[in-house]
Amino acid sequence: MIKKVLVANRGEIAIRIIRSCREMGILTVAVYSESDRTSMHVRNADEAWFIGPSPSSESYLNIEKIIDTAKRSGADAIHPGYGFLSENAKFSQRCSDEGIIFIGPSPFAISNMGDKITARKHMIAAGVPVVPGTTEAIKSEEEALETIRQIGLPVMIKASAGGGGKGMRLVKDEANILGSIRAARSEAQTAFGDDAVYIEKYIESPHHIEFQILADKHGNTIHLFERECSVQRRHQKVIEETPSTIMTPEVREEMGKHAVAAAKAVNYYGAGTIEFIVDDNLNYFFLEMNTRLQVEHPITERVVGVDLVKEQINIANGEKLKLKQEELSQFGHAIECRIYAEDPHQNFMPSPGKIKHITEPLGLGVRHDGYVYEGYEIPIYYDPMISKLIVWAKTRNEAIARMKRALYAYKITGIKTSIPFLAKIMECDDFIKGNYNTHFIENNQDFLLQRQPCGKRCQDMALIAAYIHYKNKLDNASHGANGDSEKNAWKEFGRKKAVSRF
Ligand code: ADP
Ligand code: ADP
Ligand code: MG
Repeated sequence: MIKKVLVANRGEIAIRIIRSCREMGILTVAVYSESDRTSMHVRNADEAWFIGPSPSSESYLNIEKIIDTAKRSGADAIHPGYGFLSENAKFSQRCSDEGIIFIGPSPFAISNMGDKITARKHMIAAGVPVVPGTTEAIKSEEEALETIRQIGLPVMIKASAGGGGKGMRLVKDEANILGSIRAARSEAQTAFGDDAVYIEKYIESPHHIEFQILADKHGNTIHLFERECSVQRRHQKVIEETPSTIMTPEVREEMGKHAVAAAKAVNYYGAGTIEFIVDDNLNYFFLEMNTRLQVEHPITERVVGVDLVKEQINIANGEKLKLKQEELSQFGHAIECRIYAEDPHQNFMPSPGKIKHITEPLGLGVRHDGYVYEGYEIPIYYDPMISKLIVWAKTRNEAIARMKRALYAYKITGIKTSIPFLAKIMECDDFIKGNYNTHFIENNQDFLLQRQPCGKRCQDMALIAAYIHYKNKLDNASHGANGDSEKNAWKEFGRKKAVSRF
């Protein structure tokens, strides 16, 4: 049984993992790089070990250093979080060689699903629909042209080793095919150290809908329904929600079965996600599998009522799944917004720096998974995501209202964040109506980039006015005014409707 977990990650996900370990009575070991000495995950864990310089290649991606730290700290298991080493088959193998439990799937499952071409082959064999395209890496330009003639333009040239929205090229015109293939290859080589690229039909105006799965080491595999992740920027998710507004019970059931079949195709165990691309007619195609905990896992946790990290740990312990497919259901609606330290008005340029002030949103139905605090300096070395704001309500409309309320209440100063941009999405007609696909952000760009939503500005003004009034009264009180006049002043302030003028 796992007693001590080394968390091979940083930021919000390291803290999120530590929380579940605490609830399970498991000790935690944080690891940190030079620039993460003051990071919150270091303070949260039972122990913290320094692992090297700031660049992740020398710290969070340093397999031997992490294995060595696990052994020296007496950790019997490693949780990799997402990103970094989470989808590294060699790391999973090294853990098992050293007798350390890797809280994640087998090296076989990681390598077979991590390579998109291999994954497509497994899916075809398992009867899971894949996006029309090639099943081998492109070998010659003639062959590529022939394939594109068969499936028709537009197509995507995709890196087999791609991830994080990188390594994809859209080709619309015949004239650009060869240039795009060459560019895609060289980009893939530079970014992923592997120049294998393949061709996929470009699905116009699609939805990205993914299924959470859980599988134990005894052959039991279940799905925990879908997450709608079509609000994207540069092929990266910005907002996720569940349930999806376009889903029908029939398609949900069928997709869920295919998601389970996809996982079984590689004898998968652990938590994982099957991503599908879905067209207007609800035809769906396998995109890829992420063999790890996903950034957006909290929305599933809330609507299905599970703790996915606990499930991962139980599975790693060799336990059988206690959850039964037929007993699972979705209750209410959850939305997640990814909060980035970036400036939406400067083309989303990262905005690292020192947090001067932070007021986190609280209240009914709000979950905030973050890691920054007042005075904390966001390092330049890592992903600029600083937190995830998750809300739950019984209906989608209430969830949107709640997210809006939480975003308005969320104040961070010192750096620029995507909070105002996310608030605009909550006010956008197409989002409110659930009428959106992966082009939502580009289609609504002008509206979304308008400065300060009106509702927020009014609330801010009212708060500032109330504060100035309060401060004046305090100052007066300290000069002799009594408590009664303080109370009356507040009443008077309300009666004069000072607030409603804004
Ligand atoms: P999710 O579906 O969990 O949202 P993302 O694509 O947003 O997945 O990736 C989660 C994290 O992992 C991000 O920090 C992203 O940059 C990183 N990541 C994912 N795949 C890769 C990859 N192949 N190479 C480098 N980083 C990756
Ligand atoms: P990554 O590994 O970078 O996450 P994915 O294959 O999961 O790559 O694709 C990321 C996003 O890119 C999808 O959610 C979708 O918006 C877009 N995309 C990928 N493939 C296609 C396709 N064949 N047609 C249309 N959009 C696609
Ligand atoms: Mg993906």
